[in-house]
Amino acid sequence: MSTSILVTGGAGYIGSHTVLELLSAGYEVTVVDNFCNSHPEALNRIEHLSGRSLRRIEADVRDTSALVNALRISNASAVIHFAGLKAVGESVLQPQRYYDNNVVGSLRLLEAMAQCEVKTLVFSSSATVYGSPLSLPYREDHPLAPTSPYGHSKSMVEQVMRDTVASDAACRFATLRYFNPVGAHSSGLIGEDPQGVPNNLLPFVAQVAIGKREHLNIWGADYDTPDGTGVRDYIHVVDLALAHLRALDALAIPPSKTGKGQYLALNIGTGKGYSVLEVLAAFREASGMPIPSRIQARRPGDIASYYADPAKAKTHLGWVATRSLVEMCADTWRWQKGNPDGYQQR
Ligand code: NAD
Ligand code: UDP
Repeated sequence: MSTSILVTGGAGYIGSHTVLELLSAGYEVTVVDNFCNSHPEALNRIEHLSGRSLRRIEADVRDTSALVNALRISNASAVIHFAGLKAVGESVLQPQRYYDNNVVGSLRLLEAMAQCEVKTLVFSSSATVYGSPLSLPYREDHPLAPTSPYGHSKSMVEQVMRDTVASDAACRFATLRYFNPVGAHSSGLIGEDPQGVPNNLLPFVAQVAIGKREHLNIWGADYDTPDGTGVRDYIHVVDLALAHLRALDALAIPPSKTGKGQYLALNIGTGKGYSVLEVLAAFREASGMPIPSRIQARRPGDIASYYADPAKAKTHLGWVATRSLVEMCADTWRWQKGNPDGYQQR
C-alpha cells in the first residue's frame, strides 16, 4: 500500500507543485484547503498532469474536527502544512488575522495530529524568521529576530514544534525555511496566481511582460550591493517542492535511540543571490520582451541583501537546488503567457 500524505494549503502556489511531485512519486494525497487564496482548478490540473486522482477536502485548518476527520479518512502517516497567510505588509495591518490563521491554525493541526497519532510533520517556514542579517549567508543558527507579525507567526510555530518534539520522542518534525520561491511547473499548467497587484518581483515582472502593467518599479538602486539593487536567493518552486519529498524521506528514517524526537530546521535556497537588475535581464532573455522599468525610492522595511547557506539541507536531506535563474524566468513566462488571468477562466 502506498504512503498517504495530508497536505494543508495544497491548492496554493507551493502546495500545488508539491502535490504534483507527491502524486508523481506514488504517494496518495489528501488536500485540505479553504481556497481563501487559491482556486480548485489548480487541483484539476494536477490530476491531469499526474494522471492520478487526489482527495480534496474544503475546510479551514482552524477546524480541529475537520482535520481529525481528514486524517482518519485519508489514513495519513504524515502532514505537509502549507496553509497560511503570507503577505508581510498585510500582516502589519492585520496582525490578529495572521496570528489566528498561522499560529492558531498550526496549533489546531498539531492537536488533530496528536488525536490521530500522526507524528510526522513538514512545516512551511520562511527566511523572514531571521530578520536583519547579522551575517550572510544566513545559517540556521543565525538568531531568529523577525520584523513583522508574519515572520513572528512562523517563528512562533517553529517554537511550538521544537517544544512538541521535546515532549514526545515519537515526533519527527521538519521546518523548511524557504527563501524566494519563483517559477512554475515546466508544463505551464500550474503556477503562481497572485490576487490583485503582485508585491513580489517575479509575478510583477511577468505582468509587465504580458502588458498588464506599464513598467516595473525598481524599489531602490542605492543599496550597498554590486549594482545598487536588492539581492535575494530565488529558488525554483519545483526544486522547493522536491525538498518536501526529501524531508519526508529523511523523517521516515528511524531516529537514533536517544529517546528524543527528531527536529530539523533547514534553509531551502540555492545559496546564490541575484539583484533586481540581474533578474530583469534574465527575464528579458527568457521572454524576449522589453520590460520597461523605473528606479524608485526604497520600499520601506526592505533588506538590501539576503541569501541562504543551504549546506544543512544537503547534509540532512541530500537535497540541492538545480534549476537556474533563466529556467525560473522561462517557466514563469510560459505560465503567464498561457494563463494571463491565472486559474480564472476568461
Ligand atoms: P498560497 O497562498 O499560494 O497557498 C496557501 C494555501 O493555503 C492557499 O491555497 C490558501 O487557500 C490556503 N489556506 C490559507 N489559510 C488557510 C486556512 N486557514 N485553512 C485552510 N487553507 C488555508 O501561498 P504559498 O506561496 O503557496 O505559500 C505556502 C506556505 O509557504 C505558506 O505557509 C507561506 O507562508 C509559506 N512561504 C511562502 C513563501 C512565498 O514567497 N511564496 C515564502 C516563504 C514561506
Ligand atoms: N522589488 C522591486 N520591485 C517590485 C517588487 C520587488 O524592485 O515590484 C525588489 C524588492 O525591493 C527586493 C526584491 O525585488 O529587493 C525581491 O522582492 P520580493 O518582494 O519579491 O521579495 P522579498 O523582498 O519579500 O524577499
